[in-house]
Amino acid sequence: MDRRMVQNTQVDLKKEDLFEKCQKFTAAREAIAAGVYPYFRVIESAQEPEVIVDGRKMIMIGSNNYLGLTNHPRVKEAAINAIKKYGTGCAGSRFLSGTLDTHVELERKLARFMRKEAALVFSTGFQTNLGVISSLVGKNEVVLIDKMDHASIIDGCRLSFGEIKKFKHNDMDDLERLLSHYEDKAKMIIVDGVFSMEGDIVDLPKLVKLAKEYGARIMVDDAHGIGVLGKTGRGTAEYFDLEDEVDLIMGTYSKSLASIGGFISGPEEVIHYIKHFARSFIFSASPPPASIASVSAAIDIIEEEPERIEKLWHNTRKMLNGFKALGFDTGTSETPIIPVIVGDDMKAFRMARMLHDKGVFANVAVSPAVPAGSALMRTSYMATHTEEQLDRVLEAFEEVGKELGII
Ligand code: PMP
Repeated sequence: MDRRMVQNTQVDLKKEDLFEKCQKFTAAREAIAAGVYPYFRVIESAQEPEVIVDGRKMIMIGSNNYLGLTNHPRVKEAAINAIKKYGTGCAGSRFLSGTLDTHVELERKLARFMRKEAALVFSTGFQTNLGVISSLVGKNEVVLIDKMDHASIIDGCRLSFGEIKKFKHNDMDDLERLLSHYEDKAKMIIVDGVFSMEGDIVDLPKLVKLAKEYGARIMVDDAHGIGVLGKTGRGTAEYFDLEDEVDLIMGTYSKSLASIGGFISGPEEVIHYIKHFARSFIFSASPPPASIASVSAAIDIIEEEPERIEKLWHNTRKMLNGFKALGFDTGTSETPIIPVIVGDDMKAFRMARMLHDKGVFANVAVSPAVPAGSALMRTSYMATHTEEQLDRVLEAFEEVGKELGII
């Protein structure tokens, strides 16, 4: 008898088995058996415009390494030097024994970069949203979020004791409808600056106007805006020239900033409060020195080499125009995140497989990451992609799109 049978025999004796749902979950195994499972693909190289998968070179259009800094010699050298000086981990939370001088220096640098009074460094972007939202939004207070906000914002709201209200995606009339219901309550609107699946930009000018009218605070999750939008890469608020109007800007290091971790920036008294109440900050170890040093070096490069952002936008325009010219539906995208909308989940899985076979690594997004029936290939671009690589991607999409009857 194998071990699984023994375990099953044991649970047969009980009325209900909590693990039963695991046995019944077969969708992923079916996709694996059909050879169309697109997740957990193993990459054997650095996150560059070309990666190695199964010993074979592929063009990577599924990465958030927008500025191409994750394998930059200066960033890597900074990380190595930090390991030499501080070792590999902090073995404590920021609150107690895990605050290094480099954490504090990075907080000052991030605050200056984001043009805010203060910033606080977290160990992931996900934890940043969990900690910030759950500590700030209290009982009898309201948080208003876009339906397509990132999962970490939704989970942060769930952990708060406030009332959660969702408005239709980037629909400012719907937001106003909700705001007018809660005129007398303390409230905060939380949005993605750039939406992570759709690649569209929040209508910040209208949102700011409404927030002022109804007395709401604003928090922007700019995971995909920092290093991408704005004249100097400071993100969505800079892009709209509304930096002073946004109360809190959250960012992650896992995209343009070449590492892993997150931060919140805003008024000193708010950051001071979050520092003492955010549970994901207080009860989790601080980010390792190598990550902190990488982010610091990445910010220096962003400030010193504005041409990287220009190149990213050159590549973005090329791909947006290229997909549209081929007849693909790229939805409302206007950033380096370019979805190619396919519709049916299975068609999207097949498309990913066919692209994979042609040496193109693109991501698939199906429900619940996107609305049901709107499955898409999520493509995203780096400043470091070459013209030739991007032409090969368009060729592959054209061939596969025709074969699947999408174009
Ligand atoms: N917010 C948004 C909009 C994101 O896309 C992500 C990551 N996909 C996060 C937050 C979480 O960031 P991290 O990867 O640093 O946990």
